[in-house]
Amino acid sequence: MKLHVAAAASLLLAMAATAGAVTFNATNAASNTTGGHRFDQAVGLAYANQVLSSASIFIWITFNQTNPADRKPVDAVTLVVADVDGAAFTVDDAITLSAQYVGNYSGDVKTEVTGVLYHETTHVWQWDGQGQANGGLIEGIADYVRLKAGYAPGHWVKPGQGDRWDQGYDVTARFLDYCDSLKPGFVALLNAKMKGGYTDDFFAQILGKNVQQLWQEYKAKYA
Ligand SMILES: [Zn+2]
Repeated sequence: MKLHVAAAASLLLAMAATAGAVTFNATNAASNTTGGHRFDQAVGLAYANQVLSSASIFIWITFNQTNPADRKPVDAVTLVVADVDGAAFTVDDAITLSAQYVGNYSGDVKTEVTGVLYHETTHVWQWDGQGQANGGLIEGIADYVRLKAGYAPGHWVKPGQGDRWDQGYDVTARFLDYCDSLKPGFVALLNAKMKGGYTDDFFAQILGKNVQQLWQEYKAKYA
């Protein structure tokens, strides 16, 4: 964010007020498991609710959706900690966090869960091109938000790494960060276009260069 601090603070206050229209509800359905117990001890439901709320506000700012009419019509964001495989997944406005992942994570689990929730909350709010956008881009935008929020884990690829622009996750997030540096607000414009459908030509429409050329220039910059 390049907003002046005072302006950003008052914008945050205004947006916190509008966040009042959306409810956030975290529950733990796995408190009786090792990972679920660790969640209660190290993270907690009150903190998780706070993250769902602050992540949503951060996402609206990142997507330049200060007007609620521009957002996806979501009334409630839910999180359930459950005894399932994987790390986390999101279906519509419902996030599931794996208690097993929380239990097995080595390191600062509160910070990791916070980063995971920024990623998953992005899935709640982002447009998916009416199902036409590729999965790598969808995951890349979610990790871009996690990156900009300051929760990129140390094991992520460095800028310039990766084989394809749409490889997904950290690789695509770093590339989107490069694109956004060429034209601040790029990711917000891209997401807005993805409301009605998807074509790779969106990159050229916004930045004047096609996505393959942008990827080549990105790779060359860090070679
Ligand atoms: Zn994801």
